[in-house]
Amino acid sequence: MKKLASLTAAGVVITLAGTGTAVAQTHSAQPGVQQVTSRPAAAQQVAALQAAPKSAATNSRLYRTGRLAATNCSPGEIRRGSTAAYKRFLQRMTNCLNKAWATQFRKANLRFSKPRLRIVTRKVNNACGRWVSGAAGVYCSADRTMYMLITKRELRDPFAVGIARLMAHEYGHHVQQLAGISNYYFQARQRASRSAQLQLSRRHELQAECFSAVFMRTIAHSLPVPQEHWDHTVNWFRENGHKGWAQNDHGKGRSQAAWMERGYNSAQPGSCNTWKASSRAVA
Ligand SMILES: [Zn+2]
Repeated sequence: MKKLASLTAAGVVITLAGTGTAVAQTHSAQPGVQQVTSRPAAAQQVAALQAAPKSAATNSRLYRTGRLAATNCSPGEIRRGSTAAYKRFLQRMTNCLNKAWATQFRKANLRFSKPRLRIVTRKVNNACGRWVSGAAGVYCSADRTMYMLITKRELRDPFAVGIARLMAHEYGHHVQQLAGISNYYFQARQRASRSAQLQLSRRHELQAECFSAVFMRTIAHSLPVPQEHWDHTVNWFRENGHKGWAQNDHGKGRSQAAWMERGYNSAQPGSCNTWKASSRAVA
């Protein structure tokens, strides 16, 4: 209890924020909240090249691959103030994610390729457009790159579980991209009404968050992920996960927490089928 309180006091919350990925119309990020954004600006371009059947999302072969491959992941500690240690952590985390998901794609008989990782210390424009104010990370599907921002504030007080979860979320979007799920999402969004677009966005984001939790479970013993750190993270999202977004494109806090728990408890991508979930489950 005491430890959790001190974690919060130490500003862990800052690192935990940044649920995920905003959609094109949702750029009004509130300052002070770290958000993570990939914009489907390149969606049309990608979609034009590739057919995007709905079944890629609702019935992905990834859902039938069982538990995510266990990965022995030891990305090391992030020493306070050490940019080098922070970078090493992000690179090693990416390796862990590559290993786990490559195995899963092999099981699903789907083609796998690694995302690029670009670590930045200031907000840079990228193939998907301008960096969204307040974002801590971005996955851009146009260049299949994860952009991870190291800020002075995070360097001062790095929280490994929070950073790992954020990165696994961005990687979750890469998984969606490779599996054809994102292409379906981008296409469906184009012909949807405003409220239907928001719901599609929530399905997309909540699934990335669930994939993230699936991965976090598999490294629980090696990172490690102490149960109290995980519980703290989920509780934080339950109470605050919706607050950084101008519209409900990421889901209510309780929806986010529910999908995190689902993924973490099952450790199976198959538990993350937000595309077939009831509208209530993605509210
Ligand atoms: Zn996201």
